Amino acid sequence: MGAYSIKVRGVVQGVGFRPFVYRLAQTRRLTGWVLNGDSGVEIHLEGPEESLQLFLNELESRSPAAARVTAVQVSSVEPAGFRDFAIRESESRAQPTARVSPDLPVCEDCLRELLDPRDRRFGYPYINCTNCGPRYSVIENLPYDRANTTMSAWGLDDDCSAQYRDPANRRFHAQPVACPRCGPHYFLSSTGEVISGDEAAIRRAAQLLSEGKILAIKGLGGYHLACDARNAEAVASLRTRKFRKEKPFALMARDIDVARNVVTLGTEAEELLRSPARPIVLAPARLDFPGVAPGNDELGVMLPYAPIHFLLFAAGALEVLVMTSANRSSEPIAYRDEEAKERLDEIADAFLVGERPIARRVEDSVLRVGAFGAAFLRRSRGYAPGAVATIPAERPILALGADLKNTIALVLDGQAFVSQHIGDLEHYEAHRALAETVEDLLSMYKVPLDDLLVVHDAHPQYFSTVYALKLPARSVQAVQHHRAHIASAIAERGAWGREVIGVSFDGAGYGDDGSIWGGEIFAGSVRGGFERVAHLRAAALPGGDAAASFPVQAAAGFLCQLDNLPDLSAPPFSFPLRYFDSVNLLQKGVRLFPTTSMGRLFDTAAALLGFARATTFEGQSAIWLEQLARKSPRLAPYPFLFERGELDFRPLLEAIIHDRVRGRNPAEIAQSFHQGIACGLTNALLDLCGRRAVKTVVLSGGVFQNEQLLAALKGLLEPQGFEIWTNLAVPCNDGGISLGQAALGAFQDMGRGLCPI
Ligand code: ZN
Ligand code: FE
Repeated sequence: MGAYSIKVRGVVQGVGFRPFVYRLAQTRRLTGWVLNGDSGVEIHLEGPEESLQLFLNELESRSPAAARVTAVQVSSVEPAGFRDFAIRESESRAQPTARVSPDLPVCEDCLRELLDPRDRRFGYPYINCTNCGPRYSVIENLPYDRANTTMSAWGLDDDCSAQYRDPANRRFHAQPVACPRCGPHYFLSSTGEVISGDEAAIRRAAQLLSEGKILAIKGLGGYHLACDARNAEAVASLRTRKFRKEKPFALMARDIDVARNVVTLGTEAEELLRSPARPIVLAPARLDFPGVAPGNDELGVMLPYAPIHFLLFAAGALEVLVMTSANRSSEPIAYRDEEAKERLDEIADAFLVGERPIARRVEDSVLRVGAFGAAFLRRSRGYAPGAVATIPAERPILALGADLKNTIALVLDGQAFVSQHIGDLEHYEAHRALAETVEDLLSMYKVPLDDLLVVHDAHPQYFSTVYALKLPARSVQAVQHHRAHIASAIAERGAWGREVIGVSFDGAGYGDDGSIWGGEIFAGSVRGGFERVAHLRAAALPGGDAAASFPVQAAAGFLCQLDNLPDLSAPPFSFPLRYFDSVNLLQKGVRLFPTTSMGRLFDTAAALLGFARATTFEGQSAIWLEQLARKSPRLAPYPFLFERGELDFRPLLEAIIHDRVRGRNPAEIAQSFHQGIACGLTNALLDLCGRRAVKTVVLSGGVFQNEQLLAALKGLLEPQGFEIWTNLAVPCNDGGISLGQAALGAFQDMGRGLCPI
């Protein structure tokens, strides 16, 4: 006879781990107990040595599908003489570090019951079990128990309670368990009409969608706005009411067959689409949905994940629906009922509302399968708040990210948790969302503010910076934006001492010299710090950050460095007045800001190729340019020279203008531009890596969402023996900044300020 004390860490709470342990112990006739502790699952086990070993083998190899075990710690203890095996009440100590499970899609078993008229949960939108259902979006406190979720207001009826207590049942200790008799319900409300009863409400909602109406639908982590994707009029009025001119809407396809018709899906993209996270997957469009993604040949598609979605389709909703985050313009997604009612009143014709409160907003995640595998564009539902890296920090760290695509990171006990997507910190709503997320994560993990290291972007005017400086923490650290990009990709791999050449290309970030950086190359490591060793040739940016929405305004600052410009007011350029106003600013020397932004260079190329109007969402002109390039086969690159630490854009832009004037196909020009950027950068890397005997190249920053560029770089660099690191666990755009800040902040903290960060 022996006895073990076992500690299991990872995503092990809220995924059916305790029932699994219970059943395993039962089959092996072992005694003892299991409980959810603050740092994971704790087990005390007694029995014959042989059975104990078998148990340990199966503990990892047969753990539940949604669980992710990262460590199992086993120690021998004295047997206490237990007669049976029990699931004990949770223990709560001072500082919990157990990982909270992301939300899970309804499982096959529950789906079968949901659609089976003989089942008592037939048509019930809150069906779930230990293998599926809400987690992060309902958890109010740790440990994960019903009393700590937004289901605490509902008691269990006898049937649910029996299932909850039966170790052989799939709902054994399923915290959000409910049924039509004891749980919350959905209702539909529109002007002058409230329809209660799940079935009637959902049927009416499906009907309204078919009639071309716009519905606000409460889902897992917030409200969606939905309409018939094939109804151009409905889509157009959704755009008008939502103040969203051109930014693509996401679609929800009824099932995988419908999705395959809507977009071209490779094996990996299809796997992603069907994975437990059920993200939005961007893929080449096969069908045209007018107004859904104007001028874009990709569509974002997801599959149903919450029971309410399956029920809508079962009730006759059209097979492809627009399902976009419910908000106005770029505000965060609405998730509280009162707030949704108020903010969406002018947008939605009707509301399909569920009674279960949402603990926090969690938007849909967005990914694309690219040259280096699946990459995040937005990391949120299904992934947050999962740990993405292990950072050797000496104390808890809170990193506040950047002002666009904001996320925050919390390092606790060495684990780096990255929050869901919070949004652009432009409005009051987003400011409040940031504060809520900070308070939420700190209180969930009971992190004391006084011992916290707070890390923020070096930009003095960022909202996140101002917010960071107001927090009552004793230690505060600023990290330069582009170094944080590089560190984010390294943090994913834990290669702290690895010497790399890091390429950080994006739209804008505050540079060491106070100018607008965005085309930066660094040498160094996270441990030793990063030195800026090269950059894009500087240009003047008339109007500063405001130029980001006007490609021709950015173009003025780059083009003024060229000789013999043609008349840009004439075809094929036909630049609008704004360009010439910007040239005036340049000549007068007022409101000029030096920049090395690669994003603005892409804007300039887009302007020269026909994108001379204002952009209506961030990155639009670069996406337009990339899609134009895709229409051409691979062509010879334009010259993009690297000399004395500077990438010179002048010959590149001269070549574009020359070819444009002589009437070359714009798609071919866009292609040669992309190849030119890739070749120029490759030459720079060969030079810089050669000098330092470095073989690892890091590519990060929003520009690397460009698949044409990534694929070209991969083709050029890999045959030369370089290892290329891109972001896989967090987005390469500013959504990944918080992770990079946390990593650099941690090492700065340990070294006490030796390296430039
Ligand atoms: Zn289930
Ligand atoms: Fe950035």
